[in-house]
Amino acid sequence: MDSEQLREYGHQMVDFVADYYKTIETYPVLSQVQPGYLRELLPDSPPVHPEPLQNVLDDVRSKILQGVTHWQSPGYFAYFPSNSSVAGFLGEMLSAGLNIVGFSWISCPAATELEVIVLDWLAKLLKLPEAFMSTGKGGAVIQGTASEAVLVALLGARDKMLKKFGKESMGKLVVYTADQTHASVQKACQIAGIYPENIKILKTDSMSEYALSPEVVSEAISQDAASGLIPLFLCATVGTTSSSAVDPLLGLGKIAKTNGTWFHIDAAYAGSACICPEYRHYLDGIEEADSFCMNAHKWFLTNFDCSVLWVRDRTALIESLSTYPEYLRNKASEANAVVDYKDWQIPLGRRFRSLKLWMVLRLYGQEGLQSYIRNHISLAKRFEEFVRQDSRFEVITPRKFALLCFRLLPPPNDENQGDKLNRELLEAVNSTGMIFISHTVLSGKYVLRLAVGAPLTEERHIDTAWEVLQEKATTLLKPYRN
Ligand code: PLP
Repeated sequence: MDSEQLREYGHQMVDFVADYYKTIETYPVLSQVQPGYLRELLPDSPPVHPEPLQNVLDDVRSKILQGVTHWQSPGYFAYFPSNSSVAGFLGEMLSAGLNIVGFSWISCPAATELEVIVLDWLAKLLKLPEAFMSTGKGGAVIQGTASEAVLVALLGARDKMLKKFGKESMGKLVVYTADQTHASVQKACQIAGIYPENIKILKTDSMSEYALSPEVVSEAISQDAASGLIPLFLCATVGTTSSSAVDPLLGLGKIAKTNGTWFHIDAAYAGSACICPEYRHYLDGIEEADSFCMNAHKWFLTNFDCSVLWVRDRTALIESLSTYPEYLRNKASEANAVVDYKDWQIPLGRRFRSLKLWMVLRLYGQEGLQSYIRNHISLAKRFEEFVRQDSRFEVITPRKFALLCFRLLPPPNDENQGDKLNRELLEAVNSTGMIFISHTVLSGKYVLRLAVGAPLTEERHIDTAWEVLQEKATTLLKPYRN
């Protein structure tokens, strides 16, 4: 490591990234390249001799950026956001600079201790129950993604249950999800060895705004219990991926508790909004949860990756995921005086990710973060009003956060053209390069999704998005006139 070279190259790289942000609106939001484009542009083998940074940056400019979908563009409205901020960026930089591997306390005491403190801070912002704080029996850990978070929660739940009923009960363990639950739960079940027939995907509908009904869960659990199965794990969502539906936590949590079922809450997207008092009620019922996850890397200004998992009983995770080989033994761990995060996750090695979250919390403060969330929600409301004022469109589900699900109505007498029309509209607007939106299917209908959440998005970008949608809709509807 040559410090002077780092200084020189580091300045150039920061300049490069700052210029990127300054000019981000000049790039098509959704990359317009074809599969395999990069192989045509790069050599077959690495260079034999060292190259100057400038050559690499030139290639980034001319070859890489055209293949980048610009998640930080103010015209980015697809999927859910993945926020970047100066604070998050600097935290990442510092983490790369220190480059520690903090698997156990002794491997980097500050990494472990900062993570514990910062996650307690975040728990306070979210007004989580005391049980989730490090001072009680629970605690929190930063995972890479919500997928890893639900997997480790499920492994903890599984092993606790198998301890009670014996390993031969594996085939009896049942996991309950909704048809709106993120696919990461299905994947977690596959990895955890849940029998495919024991993964129950319960139906939701438009009447309940795609939230999971406690009655449906209760009935499924009763039937399973009556036939000798073991209700292991129930996953509820606050802010579903398709339409940001919110499952009724209190009702679901009570059913889980009565049946000895682990209750996990996935608030990967909408958890961030719950730091605002006016949205905190969406977490009512969290008192019943065994685990809760929120992605700070989605809508909390913390650069990817940073998914926070809180658990009520940390021993469930630790008992499931601990290993203690000789080469990792040390006095602090043996005295049980410290947190060793290697036992709360799948890999051994881990980055100093709490630095970026700490930076975000300090450089924005509670007020800054709340107004950030509120601004996006009011921009989404603005978009919703535009859609509601145009009778050619319909809003599909009531907007709760900053995601709107909507659809261009098919022409009268041509109802079955609806899906085709909306597919074409999606293609048409995304190929302009001005905006990028995504889609889902709700009640069998192809639906457009516009999620406001890029840090640079302002009113004018919402207005442009709507203009682009209107213009393309007019063109698409032309052949249907008369
Ligand atoms: N849960 C919800 C509700 C999501 O919307 C997503 C992704 O968008 C995930 C989980 C998976 O997130 P990750 O990529 O962090 O695994």
